[in-house]
Amino acid sequence: MPTLANLAVFEASALPRLQQPIQVYYRTLDQVGKPSLEARVAQSLARVEMERLLRQLHTEAALIGANGTLDPDQRGILRDIISNDLRYLNRFMDALPTLTRAQALARCQAYLTTLRHTANEMAALKLPWLPVYPGDRHNLICKWHCKCALDIKKVNGVGNWDVYWQRSARESCSTCRALEAAWRPLRIRGGKIVEGQSLSKASEIRAIKAVLGLLDKQPTPTPDHVITPAADLRHTAA
Ligand SMILES: [Zn+2]
Ligand SMILES: [Zn+2]
Repeated sequence: MPTLANLAVFEASALPRLQQPIQVYYRTLDQVGKPSLEARVAQSLARVEMERLLRQLHTEAALIGANGTLDPDQRGILRDIISNDLRYLNRFMDALPTLTRAQALARCQAYLTTLRHTANEMAALKLPWLPVYPGDRHNLICKWHCKCALDIKKVNGVGNWDVYWQRSARESCSTCRALEAAWRPLRIRGGKIVEGQSLSKASEIRAIKAVLGLLDKQPTPTPDHVITPAADLRHTAA
């Protein structure tokens, strides 16, 4: 499961791997100068190597999220995630000659966020649609920059899970704080989201509903009523 701890270990190894081809490109540039055939060759080598790495790293992130094996659904979604990220990578690689070494190395950091989203998305695939996911650009103030993770624990019985919103220390936006407070845990029983006893304070329930825009749609909350999941969010979350 993609807990913050094992995602942090993965990210610590992923960043130097992503930065390595960039370092090689700028070392070549130092030797040959920018407008040269060698520089253009170095740029295409960086592109090939970065593409290979992104495929590899998204697969590793997916395996972390999916607990070691990917079913056909998960492999399909992984393919979509990778092809989407490769479009951004190509723009990055096109821009390489216009970037400084520091700018290019910093840009590698952004891939850690997309890798994290891959792990979260794989982990959440067995669950019913959740009203919000880490990295959800529509419902979180931090949008795509969200650094949170889902901690999903299987509970005895079919379709039963407890889902915790794990806010990382680098994340302080109010939507993620509200979700951390409200999902401790978010209970899924029999494949449906139910509000658990841990959502005891009326103010917390109000806060999280405000975050999710559910206040008007759910006018008479009772302790065990079901939140209507927003089915359109998952694929926009990555
Ligand atoms: Zn967050
Ligand atoms: Zn946030």
